[in-house]
Amino acid sequence: MKHCPRCKHTGAWTLGDGRFKCQGCGTRFSWTSVWDSVRLSPESKDRLIESFARGISVYQQRAEGDASPCSKERFYRLARACCAFAEHLHEPISQMVESRPDALSGRSSMRGWAAADRVILIGFQIDATGKLRIPGASSWNASEVVRLLRECAPLGGVFTLPSGRAFASLKLQGGYVVMQRSGSVTMAADFLESFWNYAKQHLQLYRKIPSKFFHLYMGEVCFRFNHRQQDLAVLLRDLLSAVSINEIKPILQGPESLGDRAFFPTNLGQNIGSQM
Ligand SMILES: [Zn+2]
Repeated sequence: MKHCPRCKHTGAWTLGDGRFKCQGCGTRFSWTSVWDSVRLSPESKDRLIESFARGISVYQQRAEGDASPCSKERFYRLARACCAFAEHLHEPISQMVESRPDALSGRSSMRGWAAADRVILIGFQIDATGKLRIPGASSWNASEVVRLLRECAPLGGVFTLPSGRAFASLKLQGGYVVMQRSGSVTMAADFLESFWNYAKQHLQLYRKIPSKFFHLYMGEVCFRFNHRQQDLAVLLRDLLSAVSINEIKPILQGPESLGDRAFFPTNLGQNIGSQM
């Protein structure tokens, strides 16, 4: 959708030089879709979006010589950012916390927590239309959540509150979110658990994910889950053609550009907002 960068109006005239003129305020602006911003042949882009939709990693495509691994990675990152944009992940969605018992009052007997120094927390819920939503991390309290998860769910597991919001944790190591492969998938008791099972199954394609790009991967699984009955390749091609490269820049650049709140506060006391 072509938005005026100044007043956000969506109506615009096309000018002779290829730019646009806002019908609301008269501002002239240029607009390039994410799809057009990628300088690969249309055939390569079609093949890449098909592979992305089918969950084929860049590494698995190493025999295909039509684009360099770097170009393919960049294309995948752009596709993930578009998913995050479509799923309204415009602000920090996760919190990174210390999980050592001495840092917390709660003691955990749940599996996995003793071996994890730091974890990443993610919250999610169902919206009024029945879609899965990942709200901003400022709407929940990380210290409450980590205490609850330590008591009620193994590391990597999920816990649903009576309020209809669920929280999950993953292990962090260095700058990476570590995906532990589990052969068996636990039976989901509700919609939110089934989302988390779905997310973990997809994320397990990667052994570890750079934590600075984790929000992009969550945007991708959220988009996949919300459109799991549809033709993803067609949807994604339309999405990349409808979103401008400028719109996703803040999402692509990562947590730092998403606001003045620290994306990964390591100090639990800094967290604002307490309702869960
Ligand atoms: Zn305008």
